Amino acid sequence: MKIGAPKEIYEGEARVALTPDSAVQLQKLGHTCFIQSGAGMLAGFTDDAYQKAGVTVIEGAQALFEAVDFVVKVRPPTEAEVAWLKKGQTLISFFYPAQNKELLEEAQKTGANVIAMDMVPRISRAQKMDALSSMANIGGYRAVIEAANNFGRFFTGQVTAAGKVPPAKVLVIGAGVAGLAAIGASTSLGAITYAFDVRPEVAEQITSMGAEFVYLDFAGEQQDGAATGGYATPSSPEFREAQLKKFRELAPDMDIVISTALIPGRDAPVLWTKDMVESMKRGSVIVDLAAERGGNCELTVKDQKIVTDNGVTIIGYTDLPSRMATQASQLYSTNVRQMVGDLTPAKDGVINYNMEDDVIRTATVTHEGTITFPPPPLKIQ
Ligand code: NAD
Repeated sequence: MKIGAPKEIYEGEARVALTPDSAVQLQKLGHTCFIQSGAGMLAGFTDDAYQKAGVTVIEGAQALFEAVDFVVKVRPPTEAEVAWLKKGQTLISFFYPAQNKELLEEAQKTGANVIAMDMVPRISRAQKMDALSSMANIGGYRAVIEAANNFGRFFTGQVTAAGKVPPAKVLVIGAGVAGLAAIGASTSLGAITYAFDVRPEVAEQITSMGAEFVYLDFAGEQQDGAATGGYATPSSPEFREAQLKKFRELAPDMDIVISTALIPGRDAPVLWTKDMVESMKRGSVIVDLAAERGGNCELTVKDQKIVTDNGVTIIGYTDLPSRMATQASQLYSTNVRQMVGDLTPAKDGVINYNMEDDVIRTATVTHEGTITFPPPPLKIQ
């Protein structure tokens, strides 16, 4: 099959869905690879590097769409890109079908198959294709780098001839994939790191990474809001009050807050209120990874960096993976390549689009002219 990646057209998007390395791997599966000229430039991959990897460079996005059987992309397609899709073709990209209903209908009308990388089920077998986790991992790491870049002091404590420097104190709220990556980056920079999550199972992971789990003064279940299946549910009002009380105590003492708390399918819970920001020290930094869904901090402005009157920097960037475009492209293209690998079981360049396969079925949102979203429940959890 012919597989190709166009240049991303979303403003500021620097990632690319096909790297020279992943193209080499796809060719080993019997496929031929194509790239739109310049598509990899912002991620550090030149046309020349693609050509050396055996990839054909094509001028222009529409020509690329016309030339290939599989279009691989990072961002959901624009309306114009959907219009270029045709029957028998397959698009693999983030798609967010629940939020993009009209786009989904447009895609269905073309007769093309769409595989949404954000719909890959989070089961062990599909971890190699879990692009959401790949990107969350980068987001968490990069959040700490953004915080460090906007913080006027060291993370680690030092005793120097010029005086003693105390270590920075970092609080990570939410210890899912992004939160754990943030904890790892923060502790390795030497900060004293605290973390909180509503899911009890993460306490051990947090401590094993060198951070301190924040326990609440709460008479009920210590972690209220923890659900089965690994995801959080909304906390009870009493638990939320206990959580806010604890955060209010911590706020004046924290230099950096990295917030990542999310509940699937809902707006981000507001956990860092205006009065907490006001009680923080001048020079403190908040990086709100939940900004896309409204923010965990009451004062976050999506895609902006603001500085409050009391000198607290609040960062609401939603493009953290794109800010590490080389790494993000490498991981994302590997996730996509693994998906194509599962669609090419005989490694002979022949696609076997097996809708009986749980992972392929769940991630497919349109198939041969039919909308196949939402998917049926997984057969194997
Ligand atoms: P997420 O990005 O949806 O949420 C981030 C974190 O915020 C979660 O840990 C959640 O518990 C926490 N949270 C929600 N409300 C909170 C609150 N009020 N206060 C504090 N924290 C709050 O999470 P994620 O990174 O997508 O991971 C969620 C789950 O999915 C985890 O159990 C993870 O292990 C699991 N997971 C499994 C796989 C796999 O098996 N392939 C891959 C990725 C994630």
